[in-house]
Amino acid sequence: MKHVGAISGGKDSVCMATLLKEIHPEIDFIWICTPTGNEPPAWWAHMRRLRDIIGPITPIMFPGGLDALIKKYNALPNWRQRWCTRVLKIEPFAAWLMQNAPARFYVGLRADEEEREGGDYKSVPNVEMVFPLREHGLDLDRVLKHNAERNIVIPRRTDCRLCFFQRLIEWWELWKYDPEGYAEGERYEEITGHTFRSPGRDTWPAALKDLRREFESGRVPRDTRDPISNMQCRVCRQ
Ligand code: SF4
Repeated sequence: MKHVGAISGGKDSVCMATLLKEIHPEIDFIWICTPTGNEPPAWWAHMRRLRDIIGPITPIMFPGGLDALIKKYNALPNWRQRWCTRVLKIEPFAAWLMQNAPARFYVGLRADEEEREGGDYKSVPNVEMVFPLREHGLDLDRVLKHNAERNIVIPRRTDCRLCFFQRLIEWWELWKYDPEGYAEGERYEEITGHTFRSPGRDTWPAALKDLRREFESGRVPRDTRDPISNMQCRVCRQ
C-alpha cells in the first residue's frame, strides 16, 4: 500500500504534509504536486524549501503544461471552458493514482470546511481517501498556527500566474512585479485572439495590453482581498 499526499503548496496541504511527516516518521510518504508550468518563481522556491522539510516532491505534469495546451487549442481557458484544471491536473494525477494503486491518498481539507468533498479521485479503484487535518481537528486558525510555528511562509500566489480567475489587483501585481509574466499573457492574447479577462466584468479594459496602459498611467485597482483566503490557489486547490 502506497501513502500518497498531494501538495498544491497552499497553507492546508503544506500543513498536512508537515504534520504527517512529524506524526508518522515510520511511513514512507510519496509527495506529489501537479504544476502547470505557469506558476510564479516564488512557488517553485517555496516547493524547494518544502522538499527540504518533507523529502522529495514528485511533479506530475502534462507534457508542455499550460503553454502547450493554449497553443494546441489556440484558446485561453476561461470560466466556461476550464479545461486547464482537468487536463493539466486532475487527469494526469488520476492516471498516476491508478497506476500506483492500492494507495492511501491524503487530502488536505480542513476541519472547518466540511462542505468540500476532496476532488475527483473517488472513482479511482483501490484508492482510499483520508483527511488528516479533519481527523486532527485542524481548522484555519490551527493550520496558520502550525505553519507559523515552523516558520513556513506560504507565497501569495500558489496558482498559475496567468490564471483567468484572478482579480484585477492580481493582474496589477503581475504587471508591477513580474513584467515578464505579464508580457507572456499579452502574447497569448495576441496569438489566440482571446482575452484572459471577460469583457464587461468590470469597468476596466479586458485585454491585457489595454489594461497595461491603464496601469502605466498610474491607475491602481482597489484591493478587496481577504489576506488569509488569498494565500492559496482559489480554483485548483487539492
Ligand atoms: S490556476 Fe487557473 S489557469 Fe491554472 S490550472 Fe487552475 S484554473 Fe487553470
